Amino acid sequence: MAPRTGPERTCVGCRTSGSKLDLIRIVRTPHGEVRVDATGRAPGRGAYVHADRACATAAIARGSLARSLRVGLRAEEAARLGDEIEREIEREIERDVRR
Ligand SMILES: [Zn+2]
Repeated sequence: MAPRTGPERTCVGCRTSGSKLDLIRIVRTPHGEVRVDATGRAPGRGAYVHADRACATAAIARGSLARSLRVGLRAEEAARLGDEIEREIEREIERDVRR
């Protein structure tokens, strides 16, 4: 039997897959708002990026995040989302340090 590794998701930044636990979920809510989903369970269409600045930057700069969410992101929205992902990455790093 295959070992249990938990759900796998593909990072829209680097296109490799990883455990859902190592990825940050970005959600497009039913209201059309795009934001970081820290719970991983918010309703709406989700996309995943690694908790890694290179992946987050690539996902936003190349438009793969917006494509995956099927949403148009204006430059200022993309910048705000980038900041939000950055803060979430910092929180992930703090959690790892405390482990
Ligand atoms: Zn990645």
